[in-house]
Amino acid sequence: MIDAAIPDFLLALPAGTRTPCHGRGELYIHPIRSAPTKADTVEAKALCAQCPIKAACAEHAIRHGETDGIWGGLTPAERRARRRPDCGTEPGWRSHLSLGQSCLTCREAHDDRLREQRLKRLEHEHATHGGSLAGYRLERLLGLPTCVRCRAVRQEYYAARPQPRRWHRHGQGSAAA
Ligand code: SF4
Ligand SMILES: [Zn+2]
Ligand SMILES: [Zn+2]
Repeated sequence: MIDAAIPDFLLALPAGTRTPCHGRGELYIHPIRSAPTKADTVEAKALCAQCPIKAACAEHAIRHGETDGIWGGLTPAERRARRRPDCGTEPGWRSHLSLGQSCLTCREAHDDRLREQRLKRLEHEHATHGGSLAGYRLERLLGLPTCVRCRAVRQEYYAARPQPRRWHRHGQGSAAA
């Protein structure tokens, strides 16, 4: 962490205390070396491990996409790996799903995208085939009235299909009281 701007999460620090990184900025972002040494990183992480606001510090850096230095005990690569995709995007929706979370913003955005995709596919079905079974299914999924051409294809399809064989069970009826 660097001392240039005071981020909000530092306000959670108990009064009269300092963060373990205070005055040790060179371990976190070295003024000359572009990459930290392994020893600096190990020491910086050890200091962060004792910090009362470690989780908030990491969260702040991840949320703000801080690219340099150690924050909350995490290196830039470790922060990138933990970065949650933005809400409202497909990766955001998938990330909630994998964590078993529900998010209204992501679900609504996902549903909107799904609807758009289905509308496009329906348009394509109509343009290429006139009417089709897939078109009929899409119309039902989209809650639209089914069109005459898709209905006709579907009726033809079911009329041409062999009737399923009916099975009868034997030996029933006589034993019933
Ligand atoms: S977690 Fe580490 S970088 Fe963040 S304030 Fe604490 S000691 Fe400093
Ligand atoms: Zn979300
Ligand atoms: Zn149709």
